[in-house]
Order: sequence, then C-alpha cells, then structure tokens
Amino acid sequence: MNSASHDTPVAVITGASSGIGEATSRRLVAEGYHVHAIARRHDRLEALAAATGCDTHVLDVTDSERLLRFAETVGRVDVLVNNAGLGRMDTSMAHGTLEDITRTIDTNVTALMVATMAFLPDMINRRTGHIVSIGSMAGIYPLSSAIYGASKAAVHRFCTNLRIELGGTGVRVTEICPGRVATEFYDVAVTDPVQRAKSKDSGIKEVTADELADTINYALSVPAHVNINRIE
Ligand code: NDP
Repeated sequence: MNSASHDTPVAVITGASSGIGEATSRRLVAEGYHVHAIARRHDRLEALAAATGCDTHVLDVTDSERLLRFAETVGRVDVLVNNAGLGRMDTSMAHGTLEDITRTIDTNVTALMVATMAFLPDMINRRTGHIVSIGSMAGIYPLSSAIYGASKAAVHRFCTNLRIELGGTGVRVTEICPGRVATEFYDVAVTDPVQRAKSKDSGIKEVTADELADTINYALSVPAHVNINRIE
C-alpha cells in the first residue's frame, strides 16, 4: 500500500480529518513525509487528500481488528502520531452514561495502544521510529473532567513506561500535552448549545492547531539521539 520511495519518511496520523491531526498532516507533507491520514469522515479526508496528496483511510480507530489489518498492509512506517481523541464534557461523573465512559476509553486509550502495538515491532526491527501521542494537560493536572482526565492520565503513564520499555531500541516516544487548542474538540465534547457557547467563550487565547503541528514537527525533527519526552 506504501508508494513512498525508500528515502521518504512515512507517517501515520490518526484523527486527521480536523484540528491538530489535520494541521499535522498538512505540516508533515510540507516537510517531505508521505502521510497516511486516518479518520471516519471521508469528505474531510477527501479534501485533505486533494490539498496535500496524502493517502487517506476511512477507519474507525476503535475497530481494533481493522486497525491491525491496516497496519499489516500499510508497509514501512517511521512515525505514528496517535492523535484521534475526544472528550465528553457535558456531564459530571455522577450524571455520566456508560457510553461516555466506553467511547472515551476506547478512543483515547485502547485505540492508541492498539495502534502503537501494531507498528512497534517493525520499528524495533529497523531500529528507528517515533511514536508521538497526544495527551492533555488534563492527564497531568487536576481539571474538572474525571473520565477525560483519566483517559489522558493513562496516555501519560503509557508514554512514560513505553519509553523505558524501548530503551536501546532506537525508537523514540514523545507525549504532547496541549492546553486549550482552537479545534472542533468542544463541538464534540459539549452537545448542549448553551453550555457549548459558554465553553467557547472562555476568555482564553487558544493555541492554534498549526502551532501544535509546529510543536509536533519540532519533536520529530531533533537528531535521532535526542528524545523529546513530553511537551506541555
Ligand atoms: P478535533 O475534534 O478537531 O479532532 C479529533 C479528531 O479525532 C478528528 O479528526 C476525528 O475524526 C478523530 N476521531 C475521533 N474519534 C475517532 C475514531 N473513533 N476513529 C478515527 N478518528 C477519530 O479535536 P482536536 O484536534 O483538538 O483533538 C486532537 C487530540 O488533541 C485529541 O486526542 C484531544 O483529546 C487532544 N487535545 C485537545 C485539546 C483541545 O483543547 N482541543 C486539548 C488537549 C488535548 P472523525 O470524527 O472524522 O473520525
């Protein structure tokens, strides 16, 4: 499936149809990567492919079997950006639903681990590779979002421990922990229109998705013996 020439670095980016994932896809294509962009919304992916020439894959990352099959067929991958994620912030834990819990954990935690597991063996064999995972400030510091915060805390510990497991393999692990970024995140996280308007009117000057893409590109571009562990 990989049409990249031998010298072209190859990146797989999950959640590439909007926000940080889309901006990172555009940025890495501009940096000379062959990008495989994954998401569910095919119209958004088509627009991204038309604009950048990247390969797109309509794939729900919570479908582990399909994700594993994709990894088997895609060929060499140098960089995995585990970005697909969501929050469900309408409700407190006391008023949450089973779906709030399963959807958040399946997307933010399980899919990220499955994707990492799928691409790691080949990276280790080739003694090169970089796993970049998008965590959150909510995974490190207390914030009013128990389920989301717990999912991102799992991403944080996963990255710290994976980095130790991979010591000496040449495979790098970077965790990116954004604060508030101007994306569609809150459109998904807050379904009540009044609450959404309030959440959008936070008075915070938000970081842009392009600025996050710059940050991710920085972590990727340092020399191979340098590992940027975490950027908050
Ligand atoms: P967006 O909502 O703009 O992007 C989320 C992306 O994830 C979309 O491309 C969406 O695509 C994709 N996605 C969600 N579920 C799935 C799924 N099951 N399968 C495949 N793709 C999926 O938000 P952001 O860009 O802000 O979010 C990116 C990451 O950044 C997330 O992990 C988020 O938790 C994290 N983050 C965001 C912050 C913010 O303030 N925006 C702050 C801290 C962390 P589609 O719907 O087409 O499948």
